[in-house]
Amino acid sequence: MSMRLLILGGTSEARALAAATMARFGARLDVITSLAGRTQSPARPAGRVRVGGFGGAGGLAEYLRAERIGLMVDATHPFATRIKANARAASAAAEVPLVALDRPQWRTEAGDRWIVVEDAAGAARAAKALGRRIWLTLGASGLADFAALTDKWFLVRRVDPPETRVNLPNHEIIVGRGPFSEDDERAIIVRYRIDALVTKASGGQASAAKLAAARSAGIPVVMIRRPDAPCGATVDSVEAALDWLAGRLAD
Ligand code: NAP
Repeated sequence: MSMRLLILGGTSEARALAAATMARFGARLDVITSLAGRTQSPARPAGRVRVGGFGGAGGLAEYLRAERIGLMVDATHPFATRIKANARAASAAAEVPLVALDRPQWRTEAGDRWIVVEDAAGAARAAKALGRRIWLTLGASGLADFAALTDKWFLVRRVDPPETRVNLPNHEIIVGRGPFSEDDERAIIVRYRIDALVTKASGGQASAAKLAAARSAGIPVVMIRRPDAPCGATVDSVEAALDWLAGRLAD
């Protein structure tokens, strides 16, 4: 009989996991990926997809019971702290085994000039001393902290064109969806004469090319530290998540 798996998604790892799960377990697992619904035309994962919030941890627990979910993988982005906490709480409430798929952290390499900060406000403080032309790869939520830096010029990359005006003094928006190559990222640094890059410490491969590009261009990177993940079972690769699923199916 088939067991239902809920993947909390919105990342390239979640998409890779959905495809790999279907390939490895076939009809033994019925795969549903949940997306928050933030992007206009998200890359569609294999298997079934549902879209939109659950209504907090309680709503997610209700969904797990109503849909008779047997296993859950939290493959959300490392900075998606609310859904991660909700997943842990709902897993306990509905007694559905959960594993978090956490990307490996990025590590510095020779030639890197990273300034590690706690949050977007700290990044804005650090950026004051780093030249005039700053590339922000933060998503919408962190931009407000940079609004007071009126003597700077900002490059902002978004997955979708913004629906409302971005509240930054001098800026240009570029639209693009990763993964990007090191050459792509280097071309942006050169074309826009970027003095410093600001990024979240997202980790993983999909968005690491900009760090190599910054290294080879010799520009500093303001790195916003990754929030602590909630405690509980964790794996750091799609393969390890598949092994966790195999273990639960064998139980
Ligand atoms: P968040 O702050 O942790 O979550 C806010 C609320 O959005 C949650 O409480 C939940 O609403 C809903 N939500 C989030 N992820 C969901 C999912 N996969 N399925 C259903 N509902 C979800 O999350 P966020 O930082 O806004 O990220 C939203 C989505 O974008 C996540 O899927 C994440 O993987 C992806 N993403 C985030 C980032 C980032 O930097 N934060 C970057 C790339 C991709 P309810 O409480 O109503 O259930």
